[in-house]
Amino acid sequence: MAYHELCYLVMYKIAEKPVRNYLFSLFIFFDMQCPRCQSIKNSVVDSRVTDHSRAIRRRRECDECEYRFTTFERLRTADLIVVKKDKTREAYDRDKLERGVWKACEKRPISQPIVDEMISELEEAWVRSKEVQSIQIGEEVMEKLKDIDLVAYIRFASVYNQFADIESFHQAIIGLGQEAREQREKTVKVN
Ligand SMILES: [Zn+2]
Repeated sequence: MAYHELCYLVMYKIAEKPVRNYLFSLFIFFDMQCPRCQSIKNSVVDSRVTDHSRAIRRRRECDECEYRFTTFERLRTADLIVVKKDKTREAYDRDKLERGVWKACEKRPISQPIVDEMISELEEAWVRSKEVQSIQIGEEVMEKLKDIDLVAYIRFASVYNQFADIESFHQAIIGLGQEAREQREKTVKVN
């Protein structure tokens, strides 16, 4: 890790959120350039969401001198618009979504990095299309939670009014019971 990357990470760890955002913008500005030849032409060779932040870590290779370096980028969700059920629009608010997710995840064995990574992955796709339906947000978060924790999934789905009545809620629970049984049987067969 380069010295300026280390400095940045230390600052990021200790800074408050608004300061973090500011640091991020500075860091992106300085770090897109090749540290060796200052060229701004480069290719991404690897990309992933970092575990403990809302950033994407990208491994880049300079197109001029082939030097490899790493950038940490914050998703530009500032321009993302949410289209609500009644067709009105509002600015996307990650904190609001995260609060909803945490309500569903309360007292479940789910850590902050897991929630961070889940939301960041989804955001990457939403940002590309500039506008996202609130229904789509709810459904995609539900799909992710289904893989992470079934109790959190059911809680989230009920909060987001995905169950029209008590009968469809009941059917979902039965479906999950079946899935869990199938999974157990698969595990037994493998062992
Ligand atoms: Zn270079």
